[in-house]
Amino acid sequence: MGRAFVYVIIGGGVAAGYAALEFSRRGIAPGELCIISEETVAPYERPALSKGFLLPEAPARLPVFHTCVGANDERLTLNWYKEHGIELVLGTRVKSADVRRKTIITATGETISYKILIIATGARALKLEEFGVKGSDAVNVCYLRNFSDATRLVSVMQSCNGGNAVVIGGGYIGMECAAALVTNRIKVTMVFPEAHCMARLFTPKIADFYEGHYESKGVNFIKGTVLTSFESDSEGKVTAVILRDGTRVPTDMVVVGIGIRANTALFDGQLVIEKGGIKVNGRMQTSNSSVYAVGDVAAFPVKLFGGDIRRLEHVDSARKTAKHAVAAIMTSSKTADFDYLPFFYSRVFSLSWQFYGDNVGQVIHYGDFLSGKFGAYWFDKGLVMGAFLEGGNREEYEAIAKVVKFKTTVKDISELERLGLDFALRS
Ligand code: FAD
Ligand code: NDP
Repeated sequence: MGRAFVYVIIGGGVAAGYAALEFSRRGIAPGELCIISEETVAPYERPALSKGFLLPEAPARLPVFHTCVGANDERLTLNWYKEHGIELVLGTRVKSADVRRKTIITATGETISYKILIIATGARALKLEEFGVKGSDAVNVCYLRNFSDATRLVSVMQSCNGGNAVVIGGGYIGMECAAALVTNRIKVTMVFPEAHCMARLFTPKIADFYEGHYESKGVNFIKGTVLTSFESDSEGKVTAVILRDGTRVPTDMVVVGIGIRANTALFDGQLVIEKGGIKVNGRMQTSNSSVYAVGDVAAFPVKLFGGDIRRLEHVDSARKTAKHAVAAIMTSSKTADFDYLPFFYSRVFSLSWQFYGDNVGQVIHYGDFLSGKFGAYWFDKGLVMGAFLEGGNREEYEAIAKVVKFKTTVKDISELERLGLDFALRS
């Protein structure tokens, strides 16, 4: 025996919160929707964990950043779920799912059945052990994926005030955490295998600007190498990291951000998996018509890229795929295919950038890399495919988004280079 719901969402992160709001707006009856989350807090804006949550003064704390404040929308506190008759089961892991029987089983042994299932399980942080390095469980080694990781990171940071940290990984977590550590008066060394930071998105020229800015804040970069082991004291606390070339970097704490894997395991062998995620169509529907997938775990066709299947690990896509899935579920066949403009952003120190589209083809840079207002366009076969801007205002960001969305034609490369941001503003 177990409970039965019309709609069940597995996962209580960003996508689940935005899906809940969309369900309530489109009109569901009390008792129809159940959300099951391994986390002990109601859905929140995960990006806050590497930004406001880590500030030394007046840090952001829940309930301030529950979804959906990140999209300037309603804040869904625990009470909101109660008032709307939405069953929010927290601190509970779903341990198996059977899409043929339309049931799931939780870690507490409860069987829950559904008519429609939304998979919003997000992703997990990759562990050093997956690269053959031991020591992730040391008291001063931190990862950052969820609320409990962030709470732990804050307490480790507080115990290292005035000390040193090593940040492993030069991606989003590495860059945002390094900035937060510096702001908390901790001296940072960043270690990553690539030639420059944010290698999957930034050009060497863009990366050079950010690395220069970080260096001006005292950050030391060790590039083109990886960590091979930790040195620890008798209490199991890491005291130094050892790199592939034998370099020893003494440290008081370590933050690891070496990528993620989508949480697809519950559905391996049951649903079609592609690009490391659960494959969905333009309605966010998986290979089983009663099951939808949204957010980091979903691999969906991006119309703008000719229907190429992509799995995007960013908050805007989590919010919008969630809303789109609910619209598709509640309006049946009337919902058009999801038409998404990929959007990534970050804020570190007083810097702030946005990127739209795809970083493919040829690239030209524009603007002033000294004053900190600059950007780049990527174009392929004479069409703008991607655009980056640091230090823009709302109108300027909207303009670069537009030239990517409409794949504006580039007639003359030197003209594009000369006009720079004005190319987007005048288009
Ligand atoms: P998540 O928000 O990760 O939610 C998944 C939920 O599912 C979690 O609560 C998890 O506990 C739960 N879950 C998983 N498996 C189970 C199970 N078996 N049973 C029950 N529950 C389960 N993106 C940006 O665009 N900009 C940013 O500035 C930005 N900052 C970020 C900062 C940090 C620290 C992190 C970690 C990510 C950041 N991201 C950012 C990425 C963004 O947060 C994610 O893309 C987004 O959270 C994805 O939403 P989601 O709902 O798919 O997954
Ligand atoms: P990323 O994929 O952004 O970066 C991982 C980095 O670690 C890459 O530079 C990667 O190099 C490097 N790396 C991989 N293996 C090793 C290793 N063994 N030793 C050292 N470095 C290694 O992942 P993150 O962990 O930074 O971020 C996790 C998730 O959080 C992502 O989904 C990201 O989108 C999200 N996030 C987004 C933010 C934003 O949008 N502003 C902010 C914070 C998090 P390589 O490329 O060679 O694999």
